[in-house]
Amino acid sequence: MSKEIAEKLNEELKNKSTNEVIEYFLKHYKYSSALSSSLAAEDQVLTDVILKINKDAKIFTLDTGRLHPETYDVMDATNLKYNIKMDVYFPNENDVQELYKTQGVNGQYESIEKRKTCCGIRKIEPLKRALKGLDIWFTGVRASQSITRTDMKLVEYDEGFKLIKVNALINWNEDDVWDYIKENKVPYNKLHDKGFPSIGCAPCTRPVKAGEDIRAGRWWWENPEHKECGLHKK
Ligand code: SF4
Repeated sequence: MSKEIAEKLNEELKNKSTNEVIEYFLKHYKYSSALSSSLAAEDQVLTDVILKINKDAKIFTLDTGRLHPETYDVMDATNLKYNIKMDVYFPNENDVQELYKTQGVNGQYESIEKRKTCCGIRKIEPLKRALKGLDIWFTGVRASQSITRTDMKLVEYDEGFKLIKVNALINWNEDDVWDYIKENKVPYNKLHDKGFPSIGCAPCTRPVKAGEDIRAGRWWWENPEHKECGLHKK
């Protein structure tokens, strides 16, 4: 995989429908593509689209150990609806113990460095394990979600993980997502009904107020330009 291949695929596919894009990659990269799902609304849409095309497609999530109970509920509901057991990747036990010893339970509030250390152990390292050997990484990233995502493309090369990232909902807006969920009876995280447009770990996510940026509730104590955990940085 290379940046050149990603750019070529982006040109070829940028005007295709979401279904056509997913179909293309599931056909050509059947055994080396996967959706990383946070179990938020966008990823639930993609889960539905992907499993309707190939019920054996790989879908995985990261259990950081700090998720909301509602997130486990939607994981369970999704497994039941589609008759699957999505893959779950957990952080390394020794790393979590060391994290606790060095920065306590909630060190993430004390500095960006400590927050990134926590994300590194609880999210990035498990994600690296999950993506190992893959060529294609489906994500539910949308361009209109935040200022850190406006220049993302449908298909792009991820320098950090050395694979092709397919942001299959890049041009969807929030209404598109919810219309799809309702029309297709897709299970969704009930936190979305309580003012959480973007859902992550419980200590690092809060509801947003009317008019606030969709991702304002993520790491709300930091400046907007820092608000990525390393999963989707450019
Ligand atoms: S979002 Fe918060 S709790 Fe979750 S891994 Fe990052 S810093 Fe840790």
